[in-house]
Amino acid sequence: MRVLLTGGAGYIGSHTALVLMERGHDVVVLDDFSNSSIEAVRRIEELGGRAVQLVTADLADPAAARAALEGIDFDAAIHLAGLKAVGESVAQPTRYYRVNIDSALVLLDLMHERGVTKLVFSSSATVYGDPTVSPIDESQPSGVGLTNPYGWTKAMIEQIIRDTRAARPELGAVLLRYFNPVGAHPSGRIGEDPSGIPNNLMPFIAQVAVGKRERLSVFGDAYPTPDGTGVRDYIHVMDLAEGHVAALERIEPGVEAYNLGSGTGSSVLEVVRAFEQASGRPVPYDIVPPRAGDVAEVVADPSKANERLGWSTTRSLAEACADSWRWQSTNPGGYAG
Ligand code: UDP
Repeated sequence: MRVLLTGGAGYIGSHTALVLMERGHDVVVLDDFSNSSIEAVRRIEELGGRAVQLVTADLADPAAARAALEGIDFDAAIHLAGLKAVGESVAQPTRYYRVNIDSALVLLDLMHERGVTKLVFSSSATVYGDPTVSPIDESQPSGVGLTNPYGWTKAMIEQIIRDTRAARPELGAVLLRYFNPVGAHPSGRIGEDPSGIPNNLMPFIAQVAVGKRERLSVFGDAYPTPDGTGVRDYIHVMDLAEGHVAALERIEPGVEAYNLGSGTGSSVLEVVRAFEQASGRPVPYDIVPPRAGDVAEVVADPSKANERLGWSTTRSLAEACADSWRWQSTNPGGYAG
């Protein structure tokens, strides 16, 4: 297949592009490089041993996106482009709704115009809000009582895709609800390159281990979890990338949501220890008050993806830490050097 990857130069996109290439698919990366680097595309080509077709455009701008994709054919789209920082979305709601919703609308219209019927959407476990059960499966309510605009954009785009399919029965879409993606390609050549202070746990820990930041702040140690710190389901980004390809290759008309997670929860302190072990470096930390909007535990029940996509995670948290450390220690400044 010839696959359009929107946001294909980003963290998830770059790893997914590589797995697609390894499976024999052709990749068209569309990115505006607002939060990614062209160096990532160069490295995907180097690792994949093949060229990537690159389209530089802002997908939220219909005229620009249409012009940039003129004459470029694709059989399916994996939609990853969008803004993704929870805190920033609270401070800049209109920007988040405009960019994320408009990008999805433009892509759906473009797919319709081109007769493209296969779509994989990058959703998030955040659509479950503050889950009352753990592990959580896809039958649990989603898009209810969410606490930030970022999460609402994911839930709204899921609904937009369902409505689009109702009007266009040939459309086949999968909504992939990611848990906590971590790690990097085992080569250490591509990985997560957050701009500014990382919001997420593992890139922050990696920057402490490499000496770029002094100490980790652990957000709360009085949650009802075994050691009191928050529990999440960390999934190696290569497992996540393989999940996209498994979903894409099995798409049928209709809309299906899948949890992409490991099914295993790890606490903040367990991640700290695993990273110390993998890196051989200390990760000093302070316990600070909980972060607003955080919940105690979010763990996937990935049975549906295991059974219907023939996919499951194969990489451990220890491997994710080792791969993340390889990327961080050999690229301390990210793609910029
Ligand atoms: N966390 C932390 N310190 C940090 C960043 C995150 O203690 O600097 C905790 C956070 O409270 C949560 C877990 O690490 O329990 C994962 O947070 P992250 O932001 O990576 O992902 P989230 O699950 O919030 O999407």
